Amino acid sequence: MEEQLTYSKLLDNLYSHLPKRTVRSERFEVPFADVLVVGTKTTIKNFDTICAYIRRQPAEVSKYLSKELAVPAVFEGVRLVLQGKFSARSVNDRIQTYVKNAVLCKQCGKPDTNIVESERSFRILECEACGARIPLRV
Ligand SMILES: [Zn+2]
Repeated sequence: MEEQLTYSKLLDNLYSHLPKRTVRSERFEVPFADVLVVGTKTTIKNFDTICAYIRRQPAEVSKYLSKELAVPAVFEGVRLVLQGKFSARSVNDRIQTYVKNAVLCKQCGKPDTNIVESERSFRILECEACGARIPLRV
């Protein structure tokens, strides 16, 4: 018991020295896409970071962007290369729309969701926070 107390005190002590990030980390803010246009190609330089943040497979997000922007998209390492010229704004708008439709829970608004395949090849957005299961239309 005494050891536990000491340990918890130690933790308290440790946490009190960490920068206060609790509020920040609870806000869900998708990183802004770092877009570079070269010639007729548009590269999203931080594509992997965005996908990791919203917890979606790069292939899934890439497929969505490719469909929305009507151009082929190739995932290269950490970047996504779109075969067309797009402004940072139009790329970011598409990402925001994707997040709204396929990441945020329609019920509670939390981003802690997973896409699960159900029978009859329906896709369902499953929320870890509130347990909602809502058919996905993306
Ligand atoms: Zn929810």
